[in-house]
Amino acid sequence: MRIYNTLTKTKQDFKPLKEGEVSMYVCGPTVYNLIHIGNARPMIIFDTFRRYMEHKGYKVNFVSNFTDVDDKIIKAANAEGVDSSVISERYIEECKKDMQGLNVRPATVHPKATEEIGGMIDMIQTLIDKGHAYVAADGTVYYKTRSFAEYGKLSHKNLDDLQSGGRSLLVTGEDQKEDPLDFVLWKPKKEGEPFWESPWCEGRPGWHIECSVMSKHYLGDTIDIHAGGEDLIFPHHENEIAQSEAANGVPFAHYWMHNGFLNIDNKKMSKSLGNFFTVRDISEKYDLQVLRFFMLSAHYRSPLNFSADLMEAAKTSLERILTCASSLDFVISQKEQGSVSEEEKALLQESAEFVKRFDDAMDDDCNTADAISVIFELVKAINTQLKEEHSGAF
Ligand code: AMP
Ligand code: ZN
Repeated sequence: MRIYNTLTKTKQDFKPLKEGEVSMYVCGPTVYNLIHIGNARPMIIFDTFRRYMEHKGYKVNFVSNFTDVDDKIIKAANAEGVDSSVISERYIEECKKDMQGLNVRPATVHPKATEEIGGMIDMIQTLIDKGHAYVAADGTVYYKTRSFAEYGKLSHKNLDDLQSGGRSLLVTGEDQKEDPLDFVLWKPKKEGEPFWESPWCEGRPGWHIECSVMSKHYLGDTIDIHAGGEDLIFPHHENEIAQSEAANGVPFAHYWMHNGFLNIDNKKMSKSLGNFFTVRDISEKYDLQVLRFFMLSAHYRSPLNFSADLMEAAKTSLERILTCASSLDFVISQKEQGSVSEEEKALLQESAEFVKRFDDAMDDDCNTADAISVIFELVKAINTQLKEEHSGAF
């Protein structure tokens, strides 16, 4: 099996750390609202990949978090006059309903950031002790980006370019930073915000440290695969690598997989642009299997444009496959047990070839688009056969 690794920008043979096992972490949603169908893309893609790895015989330990402490959650809580946990718990439940509708299996573990604060404090302290982080006068803890020599290796960015060309990307007006490239590990509470005790101040963690810690807790210091949408490559995943590798002293993840964007009119679907449909919106019009099929009909690294026409086409295609499957079920139910003709034996052999081609496509960096076209060839072959054998019945 080959995987395109963002770290090396090449397709590489997959070699797990432990024979027959895979440890995989997928960054999950920030829960302040219903998820949109862009958020559903990584869920569907990496669920499919997990299922395929299991089909190949791997035991997959699959961890995906919920970010349940964040400015947007706090804002939504203040708007409703409730505790931020009311908002996050509500939308975790809603997200789980959507996942079920999409046939996305629950992860082995779904950790919540607010339940892992102790681990975050420990990792931040380790980073301070090792000289990779410092505490500002107000208790904010910053990561000293330049202290990690390999910073930029995932996003293939150069620190000096970031400092000059990309300066506006990084400067946030926090003048207590020793360097504009530094990022927050822990920040002091503001009035009305949830907070935890820490050695530095009452406050809450930065977003990036959450995933470093949850991945370490459930999967160990080095994992096989870390995944998410391509918007997470920089700075989120770059910062996760800097934190984890500086704290643990070993590589963080061997393979980094990133899905392309789900777009509308060639623009990324996002809450901030307002150009989104929630999974719930789509479920009013379609069975969510159609949405899943639509997502899988493109390669996961390609951008994918969402449109009503494409959803209709996905619906028709999926129906074609399902109709063929139920026709086959019918034929099988009519058969006498043990009565397999020579002709049928030949067909079975032929279909093994389709299975092999399906697996070859999936082995090639989870190419679901090619795998689906193999299914269509099989459907065509089956339909032709059924028509010949049972002319009139189909
Ligand atoms: P967020 O809640 O924004 O952190 O997003 C949760 C996951 O959804 C991350 O892996 C994002 O990269 C992914 N994501 C968000 N918007 C899109 C989009 N339009 N297309 C594909 N993936 C997306
Ligand atoms: Zn993450």
